[in-house]
Amino acid sequence: MSVLERPYGLASLTESLQGSVVFPDHPSWDAAREAYNLAIDQQPAAVAFPSDARDVQAIVDHARSRGLQVAPQRTGHNAGPLGSLDDVVLLKTDLLDEVAIDRDALRARVGAGVKWEKVVPRASELGLAALHGSTPDVSIAGYGLGGGLGWYGRKHGLFTNSITAIELVTADGELRRVDADNEPELFWALRGGGGNFGVVTALEFRLFPIAELYAGALFFPWERSAEVLHAWRNWIRSVPDEVASVGRIMQFPPLELVPEGLRGKSFAIVHAYSLGTESEGIERLAPLRALGPVIDTVRMVPPIELSEMHMDPPDPLPYLGEHLVLRDLPAAAIDDFVAAAGPGSGSGLVSAEVRHVGGALGRGGEGHGALDKLPGDFVYFGIGLAPDEAGEEATRASLHRVTDSLRPHRSGSYLNFEEDPADASSFYPAETYRRLRAVKADVDPDELFRANHVIPPADRA
Ligand SMILES: Cc1cc2nc3c(=O)[nH]c(=O)nc-3n(C[C@H](O)[C@H](O)[C@H](O)COP(=O)(O)OP(=O)(O)OC[C@H]3O[C@@H](n4cnc5c(N)ncnc54)[C@H](O)[C@@H]3O)c2cc1C
Repeated sequence: MSVLERPYGLASLTESLQGSVVFPDHPSWDAAREAYNLAIDQQPAAVAFPSDARDVQAIVDHARSRGLQVAPQRTGHNAGPLGSLDDVVLLKTDLLDEVAIDRDALRARVGAGVKWEKVVPRASELGLAALHGSTPDVSIAGYGLGGGLGWYGRKHGLFTNSITAIELVTADGELRRVDADNEPELFWALRGGGGNFGVVTALEFRLFPIAELYAGALFFPWERSAEVLHAWRNWIRSVPDEVASVGRIMQFPPLELVPEGLRGKSFAIVHAYSLGTESEGIERLAPLRALGPVIDTVRMVPPIELSEMHMDPPDPLPYLGEHLVLRDLPAAAIDDFVAAAGPGSGSGLVSAEVRHVGGALGRGGEGHGALDKLPGDFVYFGIGLAPDEAGEEATRASLHRVTDSLRPHRSGSYLNFEEDPADASSFYPAETYRRLRAVKADVDPDELFRANHVIPPADRA
């Protein structure tokens, strides 16, 4: 295909950008359209890589005038829910990579393509931490627009509510800066409403003076899953908001990327993150240590050490995931969970985890965004590999079994953990969803933007 025959008349876009546009006939097409989740085969009309906000404006204007949609994306960690990308320009934010940290003001400013792996180490060197999540490999923008659940959350809340300003290009091609004083309603909607309202080009957020914390993981033989997870459940009832933790069953696949000592083995694991002094941490963890873990990595660490602690895979993989937000976790739920995911269950999941949330994550607060708080005290997330059709079917069956074991305790859903197409109303209270749809009708009535989880404008049935 010659340049003049580009589909949708997009040829002129190439000349308008400092960055680049990749079309299906280009040798780098497969690399350009690849998502972190290799189980997803993205086939957009074109992939655009803007190098600055002005490029983003040009892409938005071109797409609008040619009847195309724009789907902002960085890593494709949440590419599963996007669906067909026919007539969609995939806008990859990779080149929007500025990072600035103001230590005295406890603030960071990042371009929309910046992943946590570029900020957590720099902040840590300065004795600071941000409210990142388990993997360093997601974009701060994508994570933040969907909420942002991390290990400091029980003390400091969702990441999205630590965002102080957002710059974005809206459907009219305007570059806007929104914060608590400028366009507060749009600022509210962006913080938890996902990528429905424009292409974010940069964001600013708070940092916290945390030089060290007591954190790590306790590994137990997986045959002890029931005993360990019951003990963990009893323990969390006494911990303060300074302590976050995860009860988890892991079956490490026999893959090269897994460290040798863990490769092909299964464990019951408790991850713990305790803010405060070492002696407080030791005292708090004592009841779990008394169970006699076979591996104990918990110690005083700088925030950078948290990046790899959850052992999320660093490179793209084909996978499926399911989640639930849980109101509570009675003892019987642990029994059902272990029966579905533990020894003898036949589960093929790499990881089935329950995160203890609550604390500031469950309280909400003044000036918060659309995702004010999580609708429950626990979040379940299961994940398994989907290397081929048969593997996908087996993993899907395992996921259904484990998810069903906890479903009686479901109290809601969390946008960032929803890996399949879903009705976005399931993420919010009814009044919040109504308000989000009103903002969508104001800023993007013709649905120029395709988010992973679509919020339709208010006037659509
Ligand atoms: C292994 C793993 C671990 C995870 N751990 C956590 C965790 O601990 N806590 C947590 O909260 N989440 C976690 N997540 C979920 C993760 O936060 C979401 O998948 C998030 O959407 C990733 O953002 P991304 O931009 O990297 O992904 P992408 O798939 O690139 O983007 C997801 C969506 O975000 C929106 N978006 C992204 N960038 C922009 C932009 N510049 N402008 C407008 N919209 C944009 C778009 O709607 C896009 O479809 C995890 C996911 C995985 C797979």
